[in-house]
Amino acid sequence: MRRLALVCIAVALAACAARGLNPPAEQSPLILISIDGWRWDYDGKAPTPHLRALMKRGVRADNLIPSFPTKTFPNHYTIVTGLYPGHHGMVANTVRDPATGRTFIRTNVAEVRDPMWWGGEPIWVTAQRNGRIAAAMFWPGSEAPIGGILPRYWKPYDDTFPPEQRVDQVLQWLDLPAGERPALINLYFSDVDSAGHDYGPDSREVQDAIQRVDGYLGRLGRGLEQRGIAANVNLIVLSDHGMAAVDTGRVIVLDDYVAAADVDVVDLNPTLGLFAKSGKDAAVYASLSAAHPRLRVFRPQTTPAAWHFRDHPRIPPIVGVADEGWQVLPRATMNRILAGTLAGERGNHGYDPALMSMRGMFVAAGPAFKAATTVAAFENVHVYHLLASLLGVEPAPNDGDPAVGRELLRD
Ligand code: AMP
Ligand code: ZN
Ligand code: ZN
Repeated sequence: MRRLALVCIAVALAACAARGLNPPAEQSPLILISIDGWRWDYDGKAPTPHLRALMKRGVRADNLIPSFPTKTFPNHYTIVTGLYPGHHGMVANTVRDPATGRTFIRTNVAEVRDPMWWGGEPIWVTAQRNGRIAAAMFWPGSEAPIGGILPRYWKPYDDTFPPEQRVDQVLQWLDLPAGERPALINLYFSDVDSAGHDYGPDSREVQDAIQRVDGYLGRLGRGLEQRGIAANVNLIVLSDHGMAAVDTGRVIVLDDYVAAADVDVVDLNPTLGLFAKSGKDAAVYASLSAAHPRLRVFRPQTTPAAWHFRDHPRIPPIVGVADEGWQVLPRATMNRILAGTLAGERGNHGYDPALMSMRGMFVAAGPAFKAATTVAAFENVHVYHLLASLLGVEPAPNDGDPAVGRELLRD
């Protein structure tokens, strides 16, 4: 038995050496944590002792620049693939695929689990193709067998699954014996984003959510310490986008400019993704382009170059985005908000990634990272290269630059 184990280790070492990679046995586990909607400046809004301790022990960026559109699914998938949404194809939270006529909505489990939606190669697939084990405690894309590969361990998304139990599940995965233990674990929390939408970024409720989530980081840290592995784990804590305050005084009512019968509205507020009905495209585009000084309207080919949002066939023929703090709503929704039968949002995101309010955060600590270091803001397409390098695996082709992540690492 012991001899067999030794033979297995020798074979694994030889396989890694042949590929010029570090053998898994030497590797520190990597935990990638997303705190949805954590704006870059939120650590100053409420006491965050656990996040601050990570910053002190590790490296932080001034902020993390999201990709367009600054929404949850596009950006979570950019972080794990290194591809802009305009390249990986998850071009909004709600997407129409013109080739099949199908529509992706995050609440439709059949669509969420269909790999056809998920372009590029997420890091858990890269990891497992190279013999590493991956686990996902929720992450957009982690429920679909992309390239035929699912994370070895994953959970069906459940917004009500208690965050403390998510942390405990991560710790249980780390308790598995060496040959079954994941080298990469993704972990996701939605508290801060939800509070931001419901109450606005400057609310007491967001402060409470910030403190709650910092408590989850504390729980994870204590669990790692109890296992004696705290110093050996590489932790990255980041967010997908920030949050801007919105109110009912700044609303562009879509029906005032476009007849509902003339378009399919696939994506809405504060972005717009429209497919005009047959023969209506030019008129709808012209009408919307002149509609409102706070609404910018584009063809895919005329979107700002910095967005890299021109190429994918799923980018709608008419793309729009409101200015910071403005909303785009149908008349019916606006009427219900004004009548008090629907609670309007107090915060939103999706705006131009150049805006400071849309910037997220990036903090990393562990044996691989520099200590007590702050680096300049960088785009979230660069994170995938960093993940691949921490795992010692060859990255798939992507839009990132490996030099950005190298700046964060110890020599
Ligand atoms: P957004 O509309 O961009 O603010 O999306 C945030 C919401 O996405 C959160 O409140 C979550 O409930 C939801 N969400 C996050 N991750 C997943 C997932 N893996 N599957 C389904 N829904 C998710
Ligand atoms: Zn989000
Ligand atoms: Zn959100």
